[in-house]
Amino acid sequence: MKALMYLGLEKLEIVEMPIPAGEVLIKVLYSGICGTDLKTYLHGHHFFKPPVILGHECIGEVVQVTAKNTSLIPGDFVAAAPYIECGTCDMCVGGIPELCTDKSFLKTGCFCEYIAVDNLQAERNIYKISAGDPVYSLVEPLACVLNGMNRLNSDKGQEFLVVGGGPMGTLFAAALTSLGKNVSVIEPSDWRYSWLRENHANEVFSNREEVTGRFFDGIILAANVPALVGQYLPFVREGGSMLLFGGYAKDVRVTIDPYHIHYREVSLSGCTGFSKKHFEKALQMIRNDKGSFDSLITHYYPLEESQNAFTLLKAGVGMKAVIRMSYGQD
Ligand SMILES: [Zn+2]
Ligand SMILES: [Zn+2]
Repeated sequence: MKALMYLGLEKLEIVEMPIPAGEVLIKVLYSGICGTDLKTYLHGHHFFKPPVILGHECIGEVVQVTAKNTSLIPGDFVAAAPYIECGTCDMCVGGIPELCTDKSFLKTGCFCEYIAVDNLQAERNIYKISAGDPVYSLVEPLACVLNGMNRLNSDKGQEFLVVGGGPMGTLFAAALTSLGKNVSVIEPSDWRYSWLRENHANEVFSNREEVTGRFFDGIILAANVPALVGQYLPFVREGGSMLLFGGYAKDVRVTIDPYHIHYREVSLSGCTGFSKKHFEKALQMIRNDKGSFDSLITHYYPLEESQNAFTLLKAGVGMKAVIRMSYGQD
């Protein structure tokens, strides 16, 4: 099979390798490019040492099943969760399964033509979907968004501000809008600003000055610029909260005015990844309201042109880019 191998900073190569062995063999149809994939490509990542196959937003079709105790059969369309919690460790039992210490991970990334899973993964990580529709490659990123919304207590508020209208910020906006919330988005880059103006019902601004004087029940920082934390904290309404969604390097420091935390009871939280319940909820939201999500995939590339997708995203152009994995078939 063909696989897109990450070989080091800004180095990707299509290589030939054996089809993997496992109890369930899945032909990958579409793989979304995640912010983490882009970050790894540009700056490296401590989890993903080259050479490695990246990609974890996977839609496929089951082609072979030797597993017992599974209802999967060849021809089933599936979404593969890159990991699922164990359900029994202290974190899982304590109600924060996204921090599970014994997750069942898929063995490889999905920027390749086939992935294989064992019995346990077939049971835990693989979800049937009705069709091989690329919109389902948004299930994993949406699951991360739903975890964030949970941490933000978004049920309570009505007015939200998303700072950073890239693929994840826009997914946040789409999810909140789909739940009936009012969302404003701040995005400085030209392409994304224009896209948001044309394609989203939300208010879109290009800078902070345009929302000065307004207050929001929740603010989502979907851009990992540390200074934004202190700059936007005063815009959170009394009792509201701010979510640090973008990942920051470990030794980063931010400056905030604690007045807002004490006297105005503003809270600050973060989130990482997702858990099974978020993945299942994301699947259900996309199934029920595809129209709110599918426009977010703005670019498709065949596997042989996947390098171009990374170049595009590096330039801050496009929302979600998805790779069509069947090599040589356009
Ligand atoms: Zn992702
Ligand atoms: Zn666990």
